Amino acid sequence: MPSVPDEKTARVFAMDTVAVLTVYGKEAEAAIADFERELLRLERLLSAFDENSGVHEINSAQGKAVRSEPELLKIIAMSKEISLMTGGAFDITIAPIVRAWGFGGENRVPGEGEIAGLLPLIGHEKVRVDGDEITLEKGAMIDLGAIAKGYAAGVLAQLAAEHDIKGAVISLGGNVQTFGEKPGGKPWRVAIQDPLDKSAYAAVVEIAAGVSTAVVTSGAYQRYFEEGGEVYHHIIDPQTGYPSRSGLLSATVICSDSAVADALSTAFFVLGAEKSLEAAENISESAGWEIDFILITDEGKLLYTPGLEGMISHENKAYSMEMIGG
Ligand code: ADP
Ligand code: MG
Repeated sequence: MPSVPDEKTARVFAMDTVAVLTVYGKEAEAAIADFERELLRLERLLSAFDENSGVHEINSAQGKAVRSEPELLKIIAMSKEISLMTGGAFDITIAPIVRAWGFGGENRVPGEGEIAGLLPLIGHEKVRVDGDEITLEKGAMIDLGAIAKGYAAGVLAQLAAEHDIKGAVISLGGNVQTFGEKPGGKPWRVAIQDPLDKSAYAAVVEIAAGVSTAVVTSGAYQRYFEEGGEVYHHIIDPQTGYPSRSGLLSATVICSDSAVADALSTAFFVLGAEKSLEAAENISESAGWEIDFILITDEGKLLYTPGLEGMISHENKAYSMEMIGG
């Protein structure tokens, strides 16, 4: 395929995923170099597993207050807020249970007693932000895995604005962020993966040229293991301590704020269709964020919000499209 002048694409392994960075414009190369540097910096700050990360420092503090960087303070404060708004479906203090299931290490099915013993450590109130300090209750831990990539994609979009480029698409494993426009001014087309078939799309969302927005998908298919004929995926319902079973195969959130889109895609996956709709309405009212979403159900439905009418195309007839809310 002939490439568009000044189009550059790079693939970088960062934040536990392959980041695909595409930039259009004169300073494409410089922008990509900046993006890579920034991704690696954020990975070092936000990783729950890197022993030198800011998050690791908080997790090892044994109940003591830790002075943290402004960015970390901001992400944690925002995470707490989103926990409140989603009835705890998104909760960064889920870390001890994510670890019990061996995500990030060796997968295993924890015993019922083990999970029951960990549940009291979960809750947004276990992590406190006071001024520039963060305090975690003893035994509690945080995991920013459900918001870090979204936050990072948003930071890259801000960086993009500092370069002489026309447009960019930043794709970080299920998180897609658009910036500006591509040559020709056609809309961006963001594909939503078919959760049941890795090689197919369930739908395509069109984002108008010039609009910077995030399209973030959380799905059971992204990380899972099988044991005893059962499939266990990596998104945990903080109420039960088990992989969520809400009747959804994936949840996609479209929002101008990429970190919010990431956190909410995880929350909506846990909440299921009805409660997601309620939560989205409450959040739009209280926080003023404009949120659209797409939910794919295990009954073969692709549900989408009215804001996406005319922007979403039906790529896969295996799913029946249905508008919800509004
Ligand atoms: P992905 O990282 O695969 O794109 P998500 O954004 O949904 O998907 O994040 C899932 C990750 O977040 C898990 O791997 C785990 O580390 C963490 N996590 C799991 N369940 C929750 C939850 N209910 N709230 C917040 N974080 C979670
Ligand atoms: Mg997420």
